[in-house]
Amino acid sequence: MPKVEFDRERCKGCELCVPVCPKDIVLMDDVINQKGYRVATVREMDKCIGCAMCAMMCPDTVIKVFK
Ligand code: SF4
Ligand code: SF4
Repeated sequence: MPKVEFDRERCKGCELCVPVCPKDIVLMDDVINQKGYRVATVREMDKCIGCAMCAMMCPDTVIKVFK
């Protein structure tokens, strides 16, 4: 099963990764990182197909997808 990891402290909360997910499972968490940004996350990881669209979209390489 694919796994998606976010380097939360490097996320700037731009939300660019949210609309590109074909499974609609990337969303903004309630967690605020030390820089004061609301961070992106994946809920329902079991629905992830490992397409890595989210990782490709992130301008700050915050997201890593493991197949
Ligand atoms: S790898 Fe693809 S399916 Fe999985 S969270 Fe990212 S965009 Fe969505
Ligand atoms: S695109 Fe990257 S920096 Fe922007 S919210 Fe998503 S993970 Fe964070």
